[in-house]
Order: sequence, then structure tokens, then C-alpha cells
Amino acid sequence: MGRVLVGPVVAITGGARGIGRAVAAHLARSGARVAIGDRDLEQARASAGQLPGKVEALGCDVTDTSSFSLFLQSVRERLGPIDVLVNNAGLMWVGPFDQEPEEAARRQIEVNLHGTIRGVKLAAPAMRERGRGHIITIASAAARLSPAGESTYAATKHGVLGYLSGVRSELRGSGVQLSVVLPGVVRTELAAGTATGAARLLTPEEVARAVAGLVRRPRFEVSLPAHVGPLARWAQVLPQGLRDFLLRLAVPDQIAALADKRARHSYEERNLTGPESAGEEP
Ligand code: NDP
Repeated sequence: MGRVLVGPVVAITGGARGIGRAVAAHLARSGARVAIGDRDLEQARASAGQLPGKVEALGCDVTDTSSFSLFLQSVRERLGPIDVLVNNAGLMWVGPFDQEPEEAARRQIEVNLHGTIRGVKLAAPAMRERGRGHIITIASAAARLSPAGESTYAATKHGVLGYLSGVRSELRGSGVQLSVVLPGVVRTELAAGTATGAARLLTPEEVARAVAGLVRRPRFEVSLPAHVGPLARWAQVLPQGLRDFLLRLAVPDQIAALADKRARHSYEERNLTGPESAGEEP
């Protein structure tokens, strides 16, 4: 029988907007005690105020070890030991690899990959000591596929999957569960102006439902839509030429899709190429 979703303490990074916010709403509605951590504390507070139940809003910059650690400590003090950490914060720059500003590449690696590594290192030891806990990471279908125009983003998400696979082996038998969610394109600001290829556009609520399902019944890897992961793995056994042909049909070319770069200007200026926000204390 699955675990009953009543009262677990859940900490979500990047929970002020998009998928993180939808996960917070869904879990809070199901009775979880939720804390969202975001580098934009004002937006986190505004979102928390609109969510069902009592949702704590705290500052958290996943690129800063002391900020992330203070976030987790504040969650423990306010809500109790953390049952579930959702590593959700992430950034994406889209365009030709040779036009990507170095700063955009650095920030994607720092937030998507190192932010996840940091989260696991900061949360897992206390969970191992308790003999239970669950870390759920929102990676991407780009952990298995690499769309044109998303090369660095895909590199970070491949890295996340590789890292979690290794740590999973180290935590076997400890009572600590690891999960990785691989969604295709989801309707949020991060994906503005991009195409979905052969798959349909997902909603943040669909990802939130998948996360809630994992909290009830942990599994390591979940793809959304469900067929994408198995298909991507199956494609690996095909000869290179046939594989390239099929992937060209199914995987979007984001350079071609993004005819008008203005669709992503304000997102990328705020997150990837403009001045870095200082991050705030919880
Ligand atoms: P959004 O941009 O809507 O939300 C991301 C949130 O993360 C924002 O609240 C953002 O804050 C926050 N954030 C950014 N940097 C940091 C940081 N250093 N520390 C803490 N919080 C931070 O994106 P999504 O909801 O779409 O993305 C959530 C996750 O889902 C990401 O990991 C993404 O890669 C993944 N994903 C998204 C898909 C999509 O198509 N949308 C598909 C597959 C996976 P602020 O607004 O202040 O920058």
C-alpha cells in the first residue's frame, strides 16, 4: 500500500512560480506542511499567500550554500524534520550554442546542476540519520534528449540524472529515496517561445500530480508524458542514422522554433544575462 499523504514536511526550491508553485499548491491541498524557498522572497511570499493551507515562504538561493542551508534549517525549525525536498529551481537559455553568453552557460550549470548537487548534499545526511526521507528532483526530458538550441540546458539535466543515479547507489538501504521527474515542455515562463515537438504541451499541475504520486509511492524515474522516457531509451539501441532520423521527427528544433527571440527576452534578461539578484535571507 502507498504512503498516505497527510502532514509530511515538504521543502520546495524555486517555489515562487511555475512548476514549483503548482507542486506547493497541490501538496498543501493534500495536507502536507509546505515551505517554498525562492531567491525572490517577495514573489515567494505573494505566492504562499494565495496557496491553500499554511505555506511558509522563505528566501533560498540554490547557488549559495549558506543560503540553501539556512533555508533547510528554517524549514526544520518552523515545520519539523524535512520529509521531502523538491529540487525544482532551474533556468534555461535557448539559442545557437555559439551565441550563448558565457554568463548564461555558467548560471544554468550553477543553478540546474550544482544547485541540485548542493540540495542533495545538504538534505540527505539528516534524512539518512533518521532512516527516512525523499528527495525529488525536477530534471527534464532533456536529461535523455538534447534538442537543438538547448545544448547547455540538456548538459545540465543529463548531469543531474547521472549524479542522482550515482547517489542512489550510495543511499541504497538507507531509507532515503531519490526520484527524478523528466517532463517535456511545460507551460511556464522558462519555456516561453519554445516548441514541443511530437509531444503535447504539459501544464504545471500535471507535473505537480506526478510529484504527489511520487510522495505517495516513490519511484526513481518518471517521464511526462509517460511514453517519452521509454521511447528515448529504446531509441538508444537503434543504429545512429535511424536514431537521428526518428529523433529529428520527434524532438523539437528550438532554434527553428524560436523565430522571434523577443518571446524570451524578459525571462532571459531577468535570469540569465542581466545582473544577478543578490538572494535574500530567509
Ligand atoms: P520558472 O521560471 O517558472 O520557475 C523557476 C523558479 O525557480 C522561479 O521562481 C525562479 O525564481 C526560481 N529560481 C531561479 N533561480 C533560482 C535560484 N538560484 N535559487 C532559488 N530559486 C531560483 O520555471 P519552471 O517552473 O518551468 O521550472 C522549474 C523546473 O522544472 C526547472 O528545474 C526546469 O528546468 C524544469 N523543467 C521545466 C520545463 C518547462 O518546459 N517549463 C520542462 C522540464 C523541466 P525567479 O523567478 O526569481 O528567477
